[in-house]
Amino acid sequence: MSGRARHRRGVSSGGPSCNACGRLLKGQKLYYRVKTRITCEPNELSFTQEDLERDHAAELERISRSCEGRDPMELEEEVFVLLDYHLCAACKAGFVDRVRGR
Ligand SMILES: [Zn+2]
Repeated sequence: MSGRARHRRGVSSGGPSCNACGRLLKGQKLYYRVKTRITCEPNELSFTQEDLERDHAAELERISRSCEGRDPMELEEEVFVLLDYHLCAACKAGFVDRVRGR
């Protein structure tokens, strides 16, 4: 044991704990890791004549201005979220049921 504290999310000096219930996973026979990638799937990928005729420089300028002062993490999470969780066996069962909509 090095005793060195790890600061990764879900990992404390006591080892990984369940991200749902907080139970320490060190003493568990079995635990799970959930790695989920949530990506943005835009529905509007068709172009109209109007889109083609639009002033693209002005449009980019407008988009760039609308992003000013916003948290870069927040902007990134609008298109891409990576979840990396630890779950105990009980919470994993509940998680799978919820995702499957049962
Ligand atoms: Zn749990």
